[in-house]
Amino acid sequence: MKTLYAAALIGSMGLFALNATAQQAAPKQDDPAMKIYRETPTKYNDLVHTKLDVRFDYKKRYLYGKEWVTIKPHFYPTDSLSLDAKGMDLKTIAIVKNGKNTPLKFTYDGMVVKIKLDRTYRNNENYTVYVDYTAKPNEYKAQGSLAITDAKGLYFINPDGTEKDKPTQIWTQGETEGSSVWFPTIDKPNQKTTDEISMTVPAKYVTLSNGRLASQKVNGDGTRTDTWKMELPHSPYLFMMAVGDFKITKDTWKGKEVSYYLEPKYAPYAKDIFGFTPEVIDFYSKTLGIDYPWNKYSQIVVRDYVSGAMENTSATLHGEYVQATKRELLDDYYGQGRSTIVHELFHQWFGDYVTCESWSNLTVNESFADFSETLWAEHKYGQEAGDAHINGDRQAYLSQPDLRTKDLVRFHYHDKEDMFDAVTYQKGGSILYMLRNYLGREAFYKGLNIYLKTNALKNGEAQQLRLALEEASGRDLNWFFNQWYYGAGNPILNINYKWDDATKTETVILNQTQDGNAFILPMAIDVYAGGKKERKTFWMRNKVDSLVFKSAVKPSLVNVDGDKMLLAKKTDNKTLDEFAFQYFNAPLYLDRFEAITAAAKSQNSNAAARKVIIAALNDKYWELQVKAIKAADLTNDDVRNAAQPILSKLAQTDPNNLVKAAAITALGKLKASGNTNLFKQGLNSQSYAVQGASLTALSLIDAPNALAMAKTYEKDSDGALKDAVLKTYANSGSDEQWPFVYDAFKNGQPQEQFNIIRSYADMIGRLKNQSSVEQGISSIVDFGNKYKKYGVGPQIAMVLNGIKDARNKAGDTASNAMIDKAVAEMNAPAN
Ligand SMILES: [Zn+2]
Repeated sequence: MKTLYAAALIGSMGLFALNATAQQAAPKQDDPAMKIYRETPTKYNDLVHTKLDVRFDYKKRYLYGKEWVTIKPHFYPTDSLSLDAKGMDLKTIAIVKNGKNTPLKFTYDGMVVKIKLDRTYRNNENYTVYVDYTAKPNEYKAQGSLAITDAKGLYFINPDGTEKDKPTQIWTQGETEGSSVWFPTIDKPNQKTTDEISMTVPAKYVTLSNGRLASQKVNGDGTRTDTWKMELPHSPYLFMMAVGDFKITKDTWKGKEVSYYLEPKYAPYAKDIFGFTPEVIDFYSKTLGIDYPWNKYSQIVVRDYVSGAMENTSATLHGEYVQATKRELLDDYYGQGRSTIVHELFHQWFGDYVTCESWSNLTVNESFADFSETLWAEHKYGQEAGDAHINGDRQAYLSQPDLRTKDLVRFHYHDKEDMFDAVTYQKGGSILYMLRNYLGREAFYKGLNIYLKTNALKNGEAQQLRLALEEASGRDLNWFFNQWYYGAGNPILNINYKWDDATKTETVILNQTQDGNAFILPMAIDVYAGGKKERKTFWMRNKVDSLVFKSAVKPSLVNVDGDKMLLAKKTDNKTLDEFAFQYFNAPLYLDRFEAITAAAKSQNSNAAARKVIIAALNDKYWELQVKAIKAADLTNDDVRNAAQPILSKLAQTDPNNLVKAAAITALGKLKASGNTNLFKQGLNSQSYAVQGASLTALSLIDAPNALAMAKTYEKDSDGALKDAVLKTYANSGSDEQWPFVYDAFKNGQPQEQFNIIRSYADMIGRLKNQSSVEQGISSIVDFGNKYKKYGVGPQIAMVLNGIKDARNKAGDTASNAMIDKAVAEMNAPAN
């Protein structure tokens, strides 16, 4: 699964995200839940086959189900069976013998049904239990989480058709243990079952589920029954159903169906959004040495999804953010949408084919899916794109120091949903990246192949992974796994250099300053001296280690961690001349990234730093160009004089839209009327990013004119242009623009809302019409109430107090009472 928490929101929520993470990351000191050892669930019985026959009551939001579940005792003989069945009405439970149902006695507490079987069964005997039930997801009080904001398993979207512009849909979300809200099962990841699901739905809708569509039967009453069969076993949390008005676009890989289910509006862009899927299936199949294991691969996009995306076996379900038009995709080089698509696809092996045996071992699902995003980046967009992606992962983890106490394999947690954090995802992905470097690619992939083959259609944990990698490479990996999988934290590494000219000796002093033991860190150290580069390999084993070596001349650069592999918070005390040398001579993306970071801080005082920044405006990799453009301090005369002509050229001719847009944004901040034509020209671009940057730049020079221009983009704008229109309005518009801004905020995706909330609040501060002010305040309160449980309350209160100050300054005290009440509400603890 790709969570919004780990993925989309964290990057750009800024202030809000930090607070939300802190809130989640710090369990209460004596939280009793933290004392529970989260063992792998005991298997008394094993699921064998699950047959379901379901109908939906849209009015009541019910599912009427009949289930025939075939089971066998795992090892010890048993005369009882427990099934997870959350919030259901259970009408009949019976044992099926020779086609006849004999009722069984059971007790039910609303969560688990305990069934007394008709006799004791041994583990060489299958038995089938029939259950007639009603699932009532909307009446079941499910506890959601930051990662997965709800847990009711089955979702009715606009079931009465009363919401304008929203289709009627049904879809499911199983992970972590939500499937047992819609069918009784043993809802644990270490169970696997084949299945057959018959769905009776209004004939106008299409359906999707796991496996193949075995039959379709038109009924007399305006309904149709679709039967889907999943002939290989998978875990209950990977079951899925979706029903609605979707248009199916078909593709193929090695004769297997690859299909994309989209709302009719987005169907014309199906190939633009998902068309690279067969290429990814092919790449992952070859890399892992195991062909895509399921009989088809479908992807569907649904409304109001509760997380990012979910890797249901052979039928991935995406949230709306993966949708985009051809024009929006012009600005998407390897964005959230595409990385989610490959992430979910890799889960079809790591997660679905071999499944984590418990949530404690979620790493064998999610760290791999996270890592796969980098794999695809490297393969499709080149090494630099891969390095950029993994660097983003490392930073996402390192920027949350609260996570340093959490093991990757974690037997103590407050709630299973807490496992879906940046330790399991981004830290885990970075660890796999290090491991691949340590073992070498061939041995690493061979190890993954052994892991998948050995545990195919079963479960795995980190120990099986270790054994497989040891088998492939012949190397012991206990030290690595103990340190990175069963231990917490990361090295905090200080690096210092000393050159002794008298003895021609260089000393590199490495110092790990984190609490606790030293991390064992194998690394490469590249020495650049006298025009030559020499590699030394070095194992850091102690908290303080030094490397001493002779050199005929003082090295121009000693590049510690020459492969840029370490997951460490690093302070590298190089001179700016050394960083500049690194920028121009060391081979990797991260070499240049580090140099630009160092140079950005010293461009006012140091000529070498300015040289790096100016050169990096034309870096060969676009993300570093953008980094340099954003870093360039144009208030410095030397920087501005050198940068301006380069930025003008980039703004007009760079092939990458995001570089163009960044250059326009930088030039815009100069507020120079000489650039007006350049910005006007940018407004004609096909790229929303370029248009948006141009509009914002114009608004800084000529606000009234930009306001008028924004109006012409109201209807036909998306992506960055929509943000720019909104920001132009919010920054300099007034009551006239309010309805558009209000509408956009109210109906925006959470990400868009977070993006514009500050400008939105500023605008409310300026409005004349009192009822619009109240409208605006209540929309912010609604937003706050929705996300308050993630700790954003105090920030929303600040935003509201800002509105109050602005209103009061403008002489309006009429909304004070309303704001004070809202602030108190936001500051109150979430329930
Ligand atoms: Zn995932």
